[in-house]
Amino acid sequence: MTELVPLFSASIANAGIDFITPVMKVIDSHWYILGEEVKRFESEFAKYVGVDHCISVANGSDALELALRGLQVKPGDRVVAVANAGFYGSTAIHAVGAVPVYLDVDPDTLTLCPKALAAMIDSKPAVVIVTHLYGQLAGIEELVKIASAAGIPVLEDCAQSHGAQRQGRRAGSFGTVGCFSFYPTKNLGALGDGGAIVTQDTELAERIRQLRQYGWSRKYEVSLGGGRNSRLDEIQAAILRIKLPHLDAWNAQRREIAMRYNSAFAGLEAKLPSSTGEDYVAHLYVLRVANRERFAVALKEKSIATDIHYPIPDHRQPAYVHRDVSLPVTESACETVISLPCFPGMTDQQVQQVIDAVSDYFLKGA
Ligand SMILES: *Cc1c(COP(=O)(O)O)cnc(C)c1O
Repeated sequence: MTELVPLFSASIANAGIDFITPVMKVIDSHWYILGEEVKRFESEFAKYVGVDHCISVANGSDALELALRGLQVKPGDRVVAVANAGFYGSTAIHAVGAVPVYLDVDPDTLTLCPKALAAMIDSKPAVVIVTHLYGQLAGIEELVKIASAAGIPVLEDCAQSHGAQRQGRRAGSFGTVGCFSFYPTKNLGALGDGGAIVTQDTELAERIRQLRQYGWSRKYEVSLGGGRNSRLDEIQAAILRIKLPHLDAWNAQRREIAMRYNSAFAGLEAKLPSSTGEDYVAHLYVLRVANRERFAVALKEKSIATDIHYPIPDHRQPAYVHRDVSLPVTESACETVISLPCFPGMTDQQVQQVIDAVSDYFLKGA
């Protein structure tokens, strides 16, 4: 029996990193919340993304919700989102009492389709959420242009795209505000939950900074409604500071694996990721395959893990059914997408094992 190739391995991805020193530094300081480590991480991450402000929060979902609150989205407002990105944006939209307006995705990148946005922008949604899905930058320049011309802010969901860049600009620096998650499997992951919001807008940054801590303008003075407690703690900030300098190298390793896959799978009956350039940080390597269940079983028989990101489009989730919405590209993608192992530290042999199994399936078994 060959050893299982996992979809992601935290133990391999984190191998060789000294976590004891940063954690002990925080323990010895006896300062656990909103201290020096958080302040330094925020400044280092803002610099990495290429923006002025970073506000760390408890997780990526809070980042999305607090960003919407910071943008002063009100109950009943309409917020544009895609429906193939795991419902995270939708959760934030519902949390602020707004209404999601789902648009279809581009068939190549599976990110928000600029034509679909242009066709509806005159109806004046409150915010446009753009998710850089699987680590692939959306057509963000064009999307921002369309939204800005109508005076509408763009929120980038960068939870899968830390470090993705085009012409020297990184994910999170194109729109009005960018949201990140540091969940352990993300390209930059903590040893627990974490998140951040980045922006160039000083007033927006100040509002979000207040919202993450009870709406306080200063201690015990609640100046902003809708506040709560959502903070990154000092230990996670110290860990993220140790990991951030490795991010570009880890992204390069992920991209290298994606490149090997793409060249090995060219010509097979599968749709491949559209880019392996710097605008793709290979958070997930996703194929589109006609008979997905059979494909998954064939790979499992060869000890290769797969998963589906994501099986149910947002507008078909049982808790929030939108019967009147039809999104052909999104719906077809949800039926055919399947993710293959792709993570930093994955060995050449593991990559080859995946390549052999996929090639075998299509050349012999399909
Ligand atoms: C992981 C993820 C989130 C949510 O982040 P959490 O830290 O788990 O709350 C949001 N959006 C996308 C696209 C994600 O992949």
